[in-house]
Amino acid sequence: MAQSSSLSLIMTIEEARKEISDALKNIYEKNESDSTTEIVMEHLTRWSRSERVINKDLELSFAQKSTLSQIIQRLLLHEPIQYILNEACFAGMIFYVDKNVLIPRPETEELVDWILKEIKTQNPIAIGSAYRILDIGTGSGCIAISIKNKLPGVEMWACDVSDEALNIARMNADALNATIDFVALDFLDKKQRRQLPNVDLIVSNPPYVPEKDKNEMKKNVIDYEPSTALFVPDDDPLIFYKAIADFGKEKLNTHGRIYVEIHENLGGQVIDLFQSKGYHSAEIKKDLQGKNRMIKVSLG
Ligand code: GLN
Repeated sequence: MAQSSSLSLIMTIEEARKEISDALKNIYEKNESDSTTEIVMEHLTRWSRSERVINKDLELSFAQKSTLSQIIQRLLLHEPIQYILNEACFAGMIFYVDKNVLIPRPETEELVDWILKEIKTQNPIAIGSAYRILDIGTGSGCIAISIKNKLPGVEMWACDVSDEALNIARMNADALNATIDFVALDFLDKKQRRQLPNVDLIVSNPPYVPEKDKNEMKKNVIDYEPSTALFVPDDDPLIFYKAIADFGKEKLNTHGRIYVEIHENLGGQVIDLFQSKGYHSAEIKKDLQGKNRMIKVSLG
């Protein structure tokens, strides 16, 4: 299929599925290769899984074969399928993504879920009143947009250092009808972050992977995803949490809370850091893979 000559051959839906699955065998583990195969097949046919099974002997059109060939060539270079299709699914919504933003991860959906559940039980009033939330390092905007869509009454702010990322986040917010105040700033710069308002809740999935971990990471991540959204210096891996903790001391309202995604090995250190700065009621939560993945702290 990598050669264009194969475009002239007859290929059924089932054969196309096998072609993708074979191409991905050496690139991804089984789970990921299976899910990527289904994403490509859905994109190609615009049919659901069961429709594809029913029609498995139907032939692909020339255009479909040509699209498939291009997709496979890019997949073989380890490019993530979300960048190839410019689409990522998060919290039941489709977000535009490209190399300027991190691909939203399932563990970040869990972070959003946790926040939504807690707001609904602890601050039901927030659902219809001036309750202000800030998403730091918004990237594609997936956290800010999905919370705003579930809780339209809240006032949502989101910042990022990258203008390219903010353009994407704005585009996603428009497409998904979410009203959000986006601000371009370097959050590590004290003066710049002062322009942000007082808030009731801070959420962030900041860069947290120490540079030294790069060697163990997969090509699809290190070759394609934006390194500024992923990596932190080996000698200062908590740099973003320090800035978030300092900012919270100045701008978090009474009873305000901070929810952050964390590196699985740094949970204890992140909690110690927040506690040393006067935060308490720290809670650590595991993701569905059983890894320490998110933390909540509060001041009041
Ligand atoms: N969870 C992401 C990964 O493992 C990292 C996200 C981040 O640095 N905030 O690639």
